[in-house]
Amino acid sequence: MAESDFLAMLAEGGYQVGALAKLRYPGGIEIEGLNHAAAEAQTREYLQRDSVVLFESAIRVGDFFIRIDVLVKSGNRFELIEVKAKSYNSLEPGIEGKRGGISSGMLPYIQDAAFQTWVLRQAFPEAEITTALMMPDKAQLAPLDGINQMFKIGERLDVELRIPQGLDMQALAETLLARVCVDRYVEQVLNQPLDFPGGPAMLGDAAQNWAEAYRNDRRIAPVIGAHCGGCQFKAALGDALKSGFHECWKAANGWEDRDFDGGTVLDLWNFRGKQQLIDQGVLKISQVTREDIGDFDDEPEAGGLSRKQRQWLQVGGIPADYDCGGYYFDRALAAVEMSRWRFPLHLIDFETSAVALPFYRDMRPYEPVAFQFSHHVMEADGSVRHAGQFLCVEPGEFPNYRFARALKEALEGDEGSVFMWSHHENTILSRIVEQLANGHADNAADDNETRHARFPHPECFPSPQPSPACGRGGERERLSSIPGANG
Ligand code: SF4
Repeated sequence: MAESDFLAMLAEGGYQVGALAKLRYPGGIEIEGLNHAAAEAQTREYLQRDSVVLFESAIRVGDFFIRIDVLVKSGNRFELIEVKAKSYNSLEPGIEGKRGGISSGMLPYIQDAAFQTWVLRQAFPEAEITTALMMPDKAQLAPLDGINQMFKIGERLDVELRIPQGLDMQALAETLLARVCVDRYVEQVLNQPLDFPGGPAMLGDAAQNWAEAYRNDRRIAPVIGAHCGGCQFKAALGDALKSGFHECWKAANGWEDRDFDGGTVLDLWNFRGKQQLIDQGVLKISQVTREDIGDFDDEPEAGGLSRKQRQWLQVGGIPADYDCGGYYFDRALAAVEMSRWRFPLHLIDFETSAVALPFYRDMRPYEPVAFQFSHHVMEADGSVRHAGQFLCVEPGEFPNYRFARALKEALEGDEGSVFMWSHHENTILSRIVEQLANGHADNAADDNETRHARFPHPECFPSPQPSPACGRGGERERLSSIPGANG
């Protein structure tokens, strides 16, 4: 596994969430091993019992093989639970989008659960089956420090439990993980045609088709489209790895390597009409016409290039009469922007973490922890120096307020403009203000101090509003009832 994949999996927190979910079912039995046949045999044996809870149960029906995160059997009733590291807020409409129907963010999780349900129904046609998702609940507060550290992840992605004696982990899991029944959404997915590239199809029919193709080593003809912009199987041409993207586009269009020179319509920046162009046979960026982009003036506006001007520039390439050699530089716009800067310029960059299982008491799942910043200063003569940094590496210490104080101290010595890489920095500071306002503060004065830190875009740094999730008396009462959770 590549290091970046490993870090991404750690950051997502799926292993820790999975381990916590199992603690919600004391007495649950783990189906061990990756050997399919052995896992199936073990599962079959345990399912002879009238009541049992299995983790990673292995079910096979014909060509289909699934591992279910948690399967609760009680007589003829099965509860299929898929554990996801997806954040969820039990105080908000969670599964449905604003316009009704399953939200696009939740759809892959529902489809995954629906497929598992579809297979389980075939394995046990007489059983009553319900389906649920289990996810970290952002509406809940951690009742004690150090929950994340109780689930230490080893190099092999195994989770080593370090649970304090006497702590009721079942109650903790029930608090931090929402169990959401998704039966009606599963029915929607299973009973309506789904939008697959190449045309709508029922999930079961599509799965049968793909399984048959896999069994017979039959290549499925690619259906290219705007969705290929997010293709997971893309490698650079000439790379040692095969590139699924290039294979598909060559097969679908009769292309050769050189046809990719200059780019495809998929490369057009922020353009919503890609599918329409592909449907019309416009595949190369050089084939895009001005009419395809839509109406726009040739002259850049005072605020810089418009979206369409920028797209058209991309289609035509950098004109020869620009004197910058290979890139476009809007001198007039840059001059206006730079006239607002005040030296010395402060360049800040934060390192933060937002994990599923909180590090500290009173934090919610996925609440950010700010543990490092770097601070560089550029003087009016162009010289740059490393002015300072903050780093908190003390295990168990909540760094956010110390971080905010150190940042304020670093920036308050002059009136220089502050630059940051992205909105991330302002988002983090806004969250720290909210944490202070929501009663996490060890010093109420920090609230004002943090909110009035000098930033170039104060509109991005709003005063916190009381959130509906903050009427916490009931929550706190419930949380403090967890045996052993005294902080
Ligand atoms: S290019 Fe990628 S996204 Fe497009 S059809 Fe092929 S595999 Fe699918």
